[in-house]
Amino acid sequence: MRRQLFLASFVIWAACKHGPNGDESPASDAGVVDIGPSAQGWWRDRVFYEVFVRSFADSDGDGVGDFRGLTAQLDALNDGDPNTATDLGVDGIWLMPIHPTPSYHGYDVTDYRGINPDYGTPEDFDTFLVAAHARGIKVIIDFVVNHSSKEHPWFVSAAANGPYRDYYVWRNDNPGWTQPWGSGPVWHAAAGSFYYAIFWSGMPDLNLGNQAVENEMVEAMRFWLARGVDGFRVDAARHFFESADGQLSDQPENHPFVKRLRARLQAEYPEVLLVAEAWTTVGTVAQYYGEGDEYHLAFGFDSAAALKSAAKDGLRASYNQVLQEAERAYADRGFEAPFLANHDMPRTLRALEGDAGAMRVAAAALFSLPGTPFIYYGEELGMQGGASSADEDKRTPYRWNAQSPNYGFSSGTPWRSAPEAAGVDLQTQRQTEGSLWRLFQALIRVRKQNQALSLGGAQRLPVEGGGRGVATLLREHKGQRVLFVVNFHSEASGPFSVAIAGQPTVLLGEGVTSVRGGDGLQIDLGPRGFAFLAY
Ligand code: CA
Repeated sequence: MRRQLFLASFVIWAACKHGPNGDESPASDAGVVDIGPSAQGWWRDRVFYEVFVRSFADSDGDGVGDFRGLTAQLDALNDGDPNTATDLGVDGIWLMPIHPTPSYHGYDVTDYRGINPDYGTPEDFDTFLVAAHARGIKVIIDFVVNHSSKEHPWFVSAAANGPYRDYYVWRNDNPGWTQPWGSGPVWHAAAGSFYYAIFWSGMPDLNLGNQAVENEMVEAMRFWLARGVDGFRVDAARHFFESADGQLSDQPENHPFVKRLRARLQAEYPEVLLVAEAWTTVGTVAQYYGEGDEYHLAFGFDSAAALKSAAKDGLRASYNQVLQEAERAYADRGFEAPFLANHDMPRTLRALEGDAGAMRVAAAALFSLPGTPFIYYGEELGMQGGASSADEDKRTPYRWNAQSPNYGFSSGTPWRSAPEAAGVDLQTQRQTEGSLWRLFQALIRVRKQNQALSLGGAQRLPVEGGGRGVATLLREHKGQRVLFVVNFHSEASGPFSVAIAGQPTVLLGEGVTSVRGGDGLQIDLGPRGFAFLAY
């Protein structure tokens, strides 16, 4: 009680002062409460790892990663024994599309119930799933509801005026609409009429207003749940429906569709997880929470940008601002799935122009946030991928060790490769104290061992002094408090104080010059320093 009074009076005091640098988002005005009503889901205290099967581990030397390779390397992600130190410790995997497809990436599906033969057989997938579950790893798969491949038998039929015509969206004329993010056309000619395909002509949008198509999607998702999959990353969630006048994103019909989808899946599989890819601002992403009856999680695209911006520029403003926006937009902070980068973005260290210190502080800040964090494979090694803007260069093969051909990815010729700096391989980093991989391992452990970080609410505390790089986030759950304190800047913070009473224990920190509790926290952080402090 005394603590709460202290905080309340400090907030009032701080709010009356002008920030010295004009970059302030006011400290959070709500108290710390648990993340929200969805705190019960099995995913809430997990850390997910996004895997591109094609680039993870190749078992048969054809240069393409596969399920046998992935299964053989699962111990590196989590060996199921919390007492070993040789695994990263993630306990969720998101697989990018695993279905048959004409493309290398798989986002254009030709069979929603099949396994891409490049990746192995359905039995290989089942073996992988059993092995993952045996290690306590849950598995979600990418599921592309919005569109299929142009080569899907449904579209082949539709384009020939066959029985599947109404599975897709057709017009007799081309209204000339263009993609919301660019100038590419979205109507494409086929056999005398036009079909709608928002991404490209090879990916015709499915007509999700057709009950038969909705049923197909539900049944295909049930097929994978029956097989043991734990949930889905739902691709292109903003684009399921479009208006008659050419509004192509975030249409009202998206929401009842998802509510029905979730209800129909949950009726049989109450534990299913649905993660939205809605690549937009916090306020719009929040709409996909519905009344707690749409997606369980949604990726934080704004927070990904903000974390990298804060780390790159050394300024707290973007971190504080995105947290403030989330406080306003989300009734349930457990809705968020924070990350640094995914397969559609330049890799994090490349975005940070190779600055290792910025990478470390960005990783630490990622694990400070509420929600369920996702790591993109290889990010924990500081992989930068290729230099070009081609998507393939964001998705290059994982590097297992420096001794084997192709860094242990394949005994044959890898489907793609890119140079990386020395030491960017798992074996080296596992053996090297202070490596980036070891930092990710430590961050995951701190998160797993302190439920305040996974299930707790989030509150920014006032800071006095320390310059424009310092920020805080207090996480609290069932009386346990963990304070994240960070100096994003590349220069030392100098001494500063934070409005929290008590004697802290440093759970994990880097560049902590001094730390002292009492009526308030007195702390001094070096360049890109950070600390997770238990109270
Ligand atoms: Ca292979």
